[in-house]
Amino acid sequence: MEFVLFSYFCIMNYADIILPLPLQDSFTYSIPPAMQAGIGVGQRVEVSFGKSKMMIGIVLNLHDTKPTGYAVKPICRLIDDAPIVTASQLALWQWAATYYVCPLGDVMNAALPSSLKDDSYRPRTETYVTLAGNLEPAKVGIVLNYLRRSKRQQVMFETYLEMSGFGRQAALTPVSKSDLLRMCSGTSAAFTALVDKKLFTTHEEEVGRLPISTVETCQPSTLSDAQQTALEEINISFNTHATTLLHGVTSSGKTEVYIHLISQTLKEGRQVLYLLPEIALTTQLTTRLQRVFGQRMGVYHSKFSDAERVEVYRRQLSDHPYDIILGVRSSVFLPFQRLGLIIIDEEHEPSYKQQDPAPRYHARSLALMLARHQGAKTLLGSATPSIDSYHLARQGRYGYVKLTQRFRGLSLPTVEVVDVRRLKFQHRMKGIFSQQLLDAMGKALSNGQQVILFQNRRGYANFLQCRTCGWVPRCDRCDVSLTYHRQHHHLSCHYCGAIYQVPDACPQCEGHDFGDVGMGTEKVEDAVHQYFPQARTIRMDIDTAHTRHAFEQIINDFASRRYDVLIGTQMVSKGLDFAGVSVVGILDADTMLNIPDFRSAERTFQVIAQVSGRAGRAEDGGRVILQTRSADSDTIVQAQHNDYEAMTATQLEERQAFHYPPFTRVINVYVRHRDAMRADLLAADMARLLRAAFADRVLGPDRPAVARVKSMSVRKIMIKIERNASPRAVYDILMKVQNRLMQQPSASGVQVYYDVDPM
Ligand code: ADP
Ligand code: ZN
Ligand code: ZN
Repeated sequence: MEFVLFSYFCIMNYADIILPLPLQDSFTYSIPPAMQAGIGVGQRVEVSFGKSKMMIGIVLNLHDTKPTGYAVKPICRLIDDAPIVTASQLALWQWAATYYVCPLGDVMNAALPSSLKDDSYRPRTETYVTLAGNLEPAKVGIVLNYLRRSKRQQVMFETYLEMSGFGRQAALTPVSKSDLLRMCSGTSAAFTALVDKKLFTTHEEEVGRLPISTVETCQPSTLSDAQQTALEEINISFNTHATTLLHGVTSSGKTEVYIHLISQTLKEGRQVLYLLPEIALTTQLTTRLQRVFGQRMGVYHSKFSDAERVEVYRRQLSDHPYDIILGVRSSVFLPFQRLGLIIIDEEHEPSYKQQDPAPRYHARSLALMLARHQGAKTLLGSATPSIDSYHLARQGRYGYVKLTQRFRGLSLPTVEVVDVRRLKFQHRMKGIFSQQLLDAMGKALSNGQQVILFQNRRGYANFLQCRTCGWVPRCDRCDVSLTYHRQHHHLSCHYCGAIYQVPDACPQCEGHDFGDVGMGTEKVEDAVHQYFPQARTIRMDIDTAHTRHAFEQIINDFASRRYDVLIGTQMVSKGLDFAGVSVVGILDADTMLNIPDFRSAERTFQVIAQVSGRAGRAEDGGRVILQTRSADSDTIVQAQHNDYEAMTATQLEERQAFHYPPFTRVINVYVRHRDAMRADLLAADMARLLRAAFADRVLGPDRPAVARVKSMSVRKIMIKIERNASPRAVYDILMKVQNRLMQQPSASGVQVYYDVDPM
């Protein structure tokens, strides 16, 4: 009675529901009386949207304010009886939507595995076998005799008795149909016959999809003195700084330090989130961590099936969650109950930032917010910290711990700069490799050592060109030239993915003589074969490593020395630990350096240092040959001496002078329209409206480097705002300006979106 009264007073008649749509934050529905006792914030409901579409949404809040101006529809169904999004998660969603200027629906889309949004998740079941009747051990012979005309059925029946422990144990061991069939190499037909003969019965049982680690666990490795000191310094730093940056050179054993910190956190009964920039890295690391933490660790990333992700998600809500989650950026959206530590490994990596679609969030920023909500500590780790994090550490906002030695005292590889411009001028460089690189490669290969070649462009050639008139094939839908892939003999657009035939004749002059310009990983591989016909080569780029398995295969094969030379794009720069590599060749650092972006120097330095860090990880004397046309640029000289401090000093000075991050916050506003002229006009309008609010913090509009993608013309406006400006206030202004733009009749068909803290 009391309970009924209590719930009566709490009745709310309306609920705001987040729907996975890029529209407004939430939509109001009425709560039917039968649902009022059961509904709560964070639960899933089914509602009808528009004319007839049914959708699953999340309850954002309950209230009693009747919306005006339209007929409110009732919620159709309450899906769960408990929240699947916790209050802490909802708070993070809201922060993300405001900070990254997007509706909550976009955040919901990024945060939940898709079958939680369409309810298509089905638990996996297995068929189990039991004996249909009571069988006495003495009667087994009679049954086998009865089956004498089918050898297969006889063997299957005997195998079952053996597997279930029949005659040996009181409670029989459950046997699944698939195990039984595998064990006796039996057929489904024989199995069905045994069921028909009323010897077997079957039933379905729910089983999880999550892999169960069977690895024998062992103690973490003993730390070296330098690592032990770093660990102690981190612990001291955590007393005063919730966020601490571990700046440790490549191969200093940062991972070992992380493992010790994780152990400590688990001993305190708290959870750990270990973030990696890329799926690519999880393989090597999963093995390393599983050796210590076994089944206490779960892995979460987008290359897992959606059903597997749902199971991890649900397990984290349950009362026996994983203690450690190893995952990529989307794992910041998992439910945590008692998070104590977040590790952001390779914190400088741009792939922590989601580019498309919205929310264009940075997992590091979200992780820091998550840690704040949960009272957890965050350790940022990198050999080449982002200037953003390094600057905050220098200002004392983050703690800062350094690890300057490689494990076992190995020295860092020496970087030899080869001035390609001079060699070309002197006619001393014919192909794509300098003599210095060829010599180094030859020596390594004849000593049975491995080589990594880094070329940050996939395909064979950057583009084809008519040798007669200079015509270059371009994408019909994007403003870019097409990349030539020789393996498939086709042209592809790296912006929209469209594939084109190689033209027989030039459409401009009807000539047949095409040349290729520039080089991609395919061409590099060809060149290696020319100089070293015996060398076994493998390529790692998104053409060859498009699935997790393909990627793992390449890493494992190279690690077990089935190949001598690994040729790859940026993928090879990321935290991989190969013991056999003594030479790293960097073929073109200039393209990256010349990108017109305030981060290009930082990025180039990081990539060079990271790729170099793959050399000499087991034996001393690794060599890095850096071929460049900008041998005397500051950045190349700083990379040559691995002088991180000099690089940051140069960059910070420039960024302060030109008001770039970390001194300001950048928001790029994109205006997109099918019609190029309308895009120009609307972008100009938008910029004018923005200037009225933000004054000279607004730059543009400009055409971005690729001004048309998938037939949509894009214009860009940049806003540089003071760091301490409130994200909420900025959000409100942007929404007001956008609404004003949208009210213009000419605005039909325009799309406006934002990229906050662009990378
Ligand atoms: P980083 O992450 O700093 O690049 P890693 O943690 O990958 O470095 O360490 C580099 C190599 O040295 C790895 O193969 C790792 O197993 C080994 N190593 C580092 N520290 C230790 C240690 N304390 N005991 C045993 N092996 C270690
Ligand atoms: Zn031509
Ligand atoms: Zn295209």
